[in-house]
Amino acid sequence: GSVIGILGGGQLGRMLSVAAARLGYKTHIYEPMANPPAADVAHAVTTAPYEDLTALEAFAKSVAIVTYEFENIPTTALDAIEAVCPIHPNRRALSVSQDRLIEKSFLRDLGLATAPYAAVDDATDLAEALDEIGAPAILKTRRLGYDGKGQARLKSVADADTALADMQGASAILEGFVAFSHEVSVIAARNLSGEVAAFDPGENVHEGGILRTTTVPARLTEAQRTDAVLLSAKILNALNYVGVMGVELFVTPKGLIVNEIAPRVHNSGHWTQNGCAVDQFEQHIRAIAGWPLGDGSRHSDVVMENLIGNDIDRIPDIAQERNAAIHLYGKAEARPGRKMGHVNRIAG
Ligand code: ATP
Ligand code: MG
Ligand code: MG
Repeated sequence: GSVIGILGGGQLGRMLSVAAARLGYKTHIYEPMANPPAADVAHAVTTAPYEDLTALEAFAKSVAIVTYEFENIPTTALDAIEAVCPIHPNRRALSVSQDRLIEKSFLRDLGLATAPYAAVDDATDLAEALDEIGAPAILKTRRLGYDGKGQARLKSVADADTALADMQGASAILEGFVAFSHEVSVIAARNLSGEVAAFDPGENVHEGGILRTTTVPARLTEAQRTDAVLLSAKILNALNYVGVMGVELFVTPKGLIVNEIAPRVHNSGHWTQNGCAVDQFEQHIRAIAGWPLGDGSRHSDVVMENLIGNDIDRIPDIAQERNAAIHLYGKAEARPGRKMGHVNRIAG
């Protein structure tokens, strides 16, 4: 069969590779760091930085299509690949999700609700933004943030100086603090023929900025569930998107507010591995490889728990539990905050 190229060799690339193999494809991983989690299960691995355009070109020539497991791919790397073969999801999806300011204005232009926001490049901007938006608020770097990194919370205007210092000179946006009751996400897919499907929304709990658990079904009314799915489809269609996307939402009494989108398979979609006939990883491969989308309807209630850092030491106990499906990423060293694996506990 043909080869699918994946930029990024972390756990998402690993699980994409496994799904691709089940559909008869080989994968070629491109990853700057040596011995990434995906290397164990991939057909080929290129270890080179994203600045190495010669390596990127050779990689692109060895595959039929390219996809990615993380969104911070430099534009020059995209150029080098796109000259050789198609990349899904497309460039617009990447550029929108790479920059929180562009992302927010894209969502707002679609008529979707976001937190109030303003661009902040210096102390004057921040003072004006705080005037307009008020406190509490969150200052976030526009680019490169994940797992709550590159963010500073402002309880009051008095926190302005320390928050700005935390940005270390990077362009940022100030977001008004959304008083949400809980957080949910939609994992949605769109294929090459424009077919769209969404998994049941999951309810997400974060700890220290990192996803801790996802529970399905989420606490949503039927109207909220429909709204969540329809607004996600609107985002995918607007981007002419191909692949799986994660759409993070805040649930408030006034309705759903879009927090951010991720143009890739998403940690909050890991429950689908044991809750659906076709999981998010297979759905992504189907979408980008020109297949019809699979049946992602939920057959079980699931609680997904991330195993972070030393949580991995609990594996002997978790292994004794009934209905606990264990997914480990093969990472040697359990550093604090590092995602080592996850467990899907199936109800009943
Ligand atoms: P991810 O790992 O999901 O990519 P991230 O670093 O991009 O995370 P966000 O998703 O923007 O960060 O924020 C992390 C968490 O912080 C959110 O899931 C939410 O709990 C909280 N948060 C972010 N923005 C706001 C906001 N405007 N109001 C209230 N809470 C917020
Ligand atoms: Mg994010
Ligand atoms: Mg997030």
